[in-house]
Amino acid sequence: MMNSNEIKEMERSILDRFLRYVRIDTQSNHHNPEKPTTPGQWNLLKMLKKELHEIGLKDIDLDQNGYLIARIPSTLPAGRKAPVIGFMAHVDTAADMSGKNVNPQIIEHYDGNDIPLGGEWVLSSDTNPELLKYQGQTLITTDGTTLLGADDKAGAAEIMAAAEYLFHHPEIEHGEIELIFTPDEETGTGMDLFPVSKLHARCCYTMDGGERGTVDAECFNAAKVVITFTGVMYHLGSARGRMVNAVTMAGAFLSLLPQAESPEATDGRYGYYCPLEITGSAESAQLTLYLRDFEIEEIDRRRKVVESIAAVLENIYQGGKISVDFKMQYLNMREYIRKDPLVMEKLEEAAANIGIIVSNEIIRGGTDGARLCAMGIPTPNIFTGGHNYHSRYEWAALPVMTEAARLIGELIVLWGKEDE
Ligand SMILES: [Zn+2]
Repeated sequence: MMNSNEIKEMERSILDRFLRYVRIDTQSNHHNPEKPTTPGQWNLLKMLKKELHEIGLKDIDLDQNGYLIARIPSTLPAGRKAPVIGFMAHVDTAADMSGKNVNPQIIEHYDGNDIPLGGEWVLSSDTNPELLKYQGQTLITTDGTTLLGADDKAGAAEIMAAAEYLFHHPEIEHGEIELIFTPDEETGTGMDLFPVSKLHARCCYTMDGGERGTVDAECFNAAKVVITFTGVMYHLGSARGRMVNAVTMAGAFLSLLPQAESPEATDGRYGYYCPLEITGSAESAQLTLYLRDFEIEEIDRRRKVVESIAAVLENIYQGGKISVDFKMQYLNMREYIRKDPLVMEKLEEAAANIGIIVSNEIIRGGTDGARLCAMGIPTPNIFTGGHNYHSRYEWAALPVMTEAARLIGELIVLWGKEDE
């Protein structure tokens, strides 16, 4: 649908926007219960709001919790209505690496060699062979002192550039489109206050993935288990036969977890137990355990294992008590997305229209899309062209960012042909 001049123009728009967005420090902070968790996120949200206004959109809403929702009205002839679809990106960056004074480096006509970032840091094509796919093209890297913030400002720039193009081409027929920007994705609590009742969308796409062509429509099922060990304390000099040590019980519990089912021993579709935090004393100790698996039956099985280890240890440590508190955190989004097969069919067709074959990946973690799925809106995740997230080695391929924005446009056109 776009000619080569329009594609060039879109690429320029994406690059400008991206460079502007990454310079704003939007690192989130999972220790702060306020929403958003850091004031820098407001700066980017307000910038996006202003830019949406400049594009010409009228329906723009930034609420008190930092959720920005804007709408592009339908261009369909009177009497026709297509399903509403949405596109979403998060404005924060991860706490793993500083996002302050990001100084992006633009590498034009990349020559295939190692890229010096600054100081002692080098982005090597040996350890990053994907770089070699972009010889002759434009890459964006860090200067070695911060992360880049392609996660997820690449997604934000792509959505904004696609919205700008579409709004200025009212001859392109499409239904109503929702653009959604959220804070605090990296803290895992970014969707807690999401005003889902405001959305009209039948489905959404998060623009928050990585390498060209990759799409995520599956993530872990996740549960958190807090195990409390209660001991029986006596003076250590006269403890024989009657003291029960909660620390010892917790240690015994940990030693019984299968080592082969840990994050460090699994990949692909294998799930795990992960002891994440332990606190306490001989009187009382608490262990936090994460259970993760793509199949819900395997979460149930591991829950039973945890409960039976607790029961056995209570028998061994007579007088000690062990309580198990189990909570589901999120579910595999596959089940929600499968209920509306058009969501993935349209995505594959739109990608094919711009010469991309979609490859389905699985996320060994969660996403905001998974949270939105659980709220009733199927939401797979699409590549943005970024790599090596949360690190000084983060980089993005500009041509792929442009393809991601074109994919947004294609999706909008294809959904516009459906009847609501
Ligand atoms: Zn992200």
